[in-house]
Amino acid sequence: MVIDIEQEKREIISRYRKLLRKAKPILKDGDARLIKKAFTLSLEAHKDMRRKSGEPYIFHPLAVAQICVEEIGLGTTSIIAALLHDVVEDTDMELGNIEKMFGKKVASIVDGLTKIRGVFEHGTSQQAENFRKMLFTLSDDVRVILIKLADRLHNMRTLDSMPRNKQLKVSSETIYLYAPLAHRLGLNAIKSELEDLYLRFTDRQAYDSILRNIDETRASRNKFIKQFTQPIIEELDELGVEYEIKGRPKSVNSIWNKMRKQNIPFEEVYDLFAIRIIVDTPLEMEKSVCWQVYSIVTDFYTPNPDRLRDWISTPRANGYESLHTTVMAKNGQWVEVQIRTRRMDEIAEKGYAAHWKYKESAASHESNLEKWLAKVRDTLEQNDHSALDFVDDFRGNLFSEEVFVFTPKGELKTLPHGATALDFAFDIHTQVGSKCIGAKVNTKLVPINYVLKNGDQIEILTSSKQKPHEDWLRFVVTSKAKGRIKDALKEEKKKAAEDGKEIIMRKLKQMKIEPTQTVLEQLREFFSAPTHIDLYYRVGKGFINPTDIKRFQEYKPATALKTKPGIDVSDPKVIEQEIKKVKGRYDDILLIGEDMDVVEYKLAKCCTPIPGDDVFGFVTVNEGIKIHRTNCPNSAELLSNHGNRVVKAKWTSQHEVAFLTGVKIKGTDRVGLINDISRIISEELKVNMSSMSIHTDSGIFEGEIMLYVNDTRHLEQLIQKLSQVEGIVKVNRFDSKE
Ligand code: MN
Repeated sequence: MVIDIEQEKREIISRYRKLLRKAKPILKDGDARLIKKAFTLSLEAHKDMRRKSGEPYIFHPLAVAQICVEEIGLGTTSIIAALLHDVVEDTDMELGNIEKMFGKKVASIVDGLTKIRGVFEHGTSQQAENFRKMLFTLSDDVRVILIKLADRLHNMRTLDSMPRNKQLKVSSETIYLYAPLAHRLGLNAIKSELEDLYLRFTDRQAYDSILRNIDETRASRNKFIKQFTQPIIEELDELGVEYEIKGRPKSVNSIWNKMRKQNIPFEEVYDLFAIRIIVDTPLEMEKSVCWQVYSIVTDFYTPNPDRLRDWISTPRANGYESLHTTVMAKNGQWVEVQIRTRRMDEIAEKGYAAHWKYKESAASHESNLEKWLAKVRDTLEQNDHSALDFVDDFRGNLFSEEVFVFTPKGELKTLPHGATALDFAFDIHTQVGSKCIGAKVNTKLVPINYVLKNGDQIEILTSSKQKPHEDWLRFVVTSKAKGRIKDALKEEKKKAAEDGKEIIMRKLKQMKIEPTQTVLEQLREFFSAPTHIDLYYRVGKGFINPTDIKRFQEYKPATALKTKPGIDVSDPKVIEQEIKKVKGRYDDILLIGEDMDVVEYKLAKCCTPIPGDDVFGFVTVNEGIKIHRTNCPNSAELLSNHGNRVVKAKWTSQHEVAFLTGVKIKGTDRVGLINDISRIISEELKVNMSSMSIHTDSGIFEGEIMLYVNDTRHLEQLIQKLSQVEGIVKVNRFDSKE
């Protein structure tokens, strides 16, 4: 290929001028000079480099800067950082020089951009760790993430020249993380384009066919829109406000998702497009004018009451404000109408940066988005959880819609869809969450795992005796609650281990055994604890009691001769006997699979697991599920080469296993009765309630409680205790409602 150098130089200059033209309205004195300096520096640094397409490399930083200004609404600092975003990584230019030339702010953003570059370059856990780092940077300066999105958008737009494998990789990263991130930041135009480009590079056929269909139906669609808006236009003209009406089809990707989800052809997607009415009105009139427009629209067309969305009174967490309604057109077709002001439209398209722009005038306090960023920061501060957990939690939060609920004082809280009363409690305060025993939702008593609904008003009930349980992790969806519960459990385990260690030391002293490293190691082995901490924990929790420790004395002489107990591992009967011996009175149960079911299993002979060991299940061809210890000599091979046949497994002592059962209570109502009942259940007997429903009618009290018990003896004990409560006449067991 012959390259016309002169022609290329002219093109570079013309693109640079275009950038300056777009930036002009936001430039302050001296800004243009700084931008020119950054451009010259970048041009020089990349002078010998070309993109895969053969273009001069400088086209890329120029395009990224252009996106920052034009499509996100960022300012000079970001333009400079965008122009320099690949300089440190690709050339020998040093960060120190950039700081000298452009100051600390630009240098720190460029540094952030350089650091988050290889975000997806490595294996899964590496990805997650890097993503976490990326969000750390985000919490420093949100511009790093915005410029990164602009960078990704330009790379997606120019993905054609990349080899196929690279196209697939870049596209999947985009749909996995960048599109949701753009959505969360309220950059809807960018989000849609990223999604469409994803489809274009992963399913070209579907993409092309939808595009063709949109094109072919344009004329008839426009005709329909014209007819539909005709009466509305007349009324709007009389209203005397400036307005604009748009009728744009939805994004290719969202149409494709509808076709796939509902399994229908293009022709049957009814909400192909939405009609948008944008009004120009001063800030203080926004709400009333939008509702006036709503009133005009619904004068002509009947609205579907289920589809009214008022994001003006309650903006979405990403800052989106708009009034949506779906109305029935004359031909019987449902049409979505979006009503918003110019300001709201700009926020919806350009998101956060546009938000900034209007911040001065908007009499708003902390925006919802800032609250969200604070939440992300909060999550990041608890950095001791595994990075993968974090990404899962975070992604979960990205994709879900929100639910709006209220505190007793009427304060609005926004939580992810699926959040429970317990999430709400942790959202208020860690202490409220940790002590939560239930809640009153709209004055009705509900258990902690109650799933919140829009508009619920929630009062959290606490008890000073309450503390977080392992179960709770299944009851929450927010990363904040998960993190706090994990912290508390870890703390509790540490405490129990300390107690356990003390008990062991005391007991050994009584038995006149010196607590040497060797002795402690033998003790660990005797109880088959994976680590010393585990051993201490089990003693501290009473799963191993002092009498059991005594048995160690009888065993000890044998180990003086042999380092391992004399088990013939080739004879399954011997193994079984051994297990029974160690198990003693604890009938431990093995829970298997994602749902932690009790299923048939066999213990592997190679590592003879016993209750308490860290184990996993392996699906064999002829013998069902076999249980191996995770430190079994064969485990590495099994886990890495046959990962699909591995199932989760976990020992649970009877004390922890619980079965759901129901109890019916009848009696006379009095003040404090519910309190007394829940105290007996959760404090005295340490039973977990699953749900509780109570009716009182003219002094008569009737309650149904679903709860977890260990066995029938435990249940009888509970019924006995409850019967003694003042005012209770009858307590009996009933079968689960399901
Ligand atoms: Mn780049």
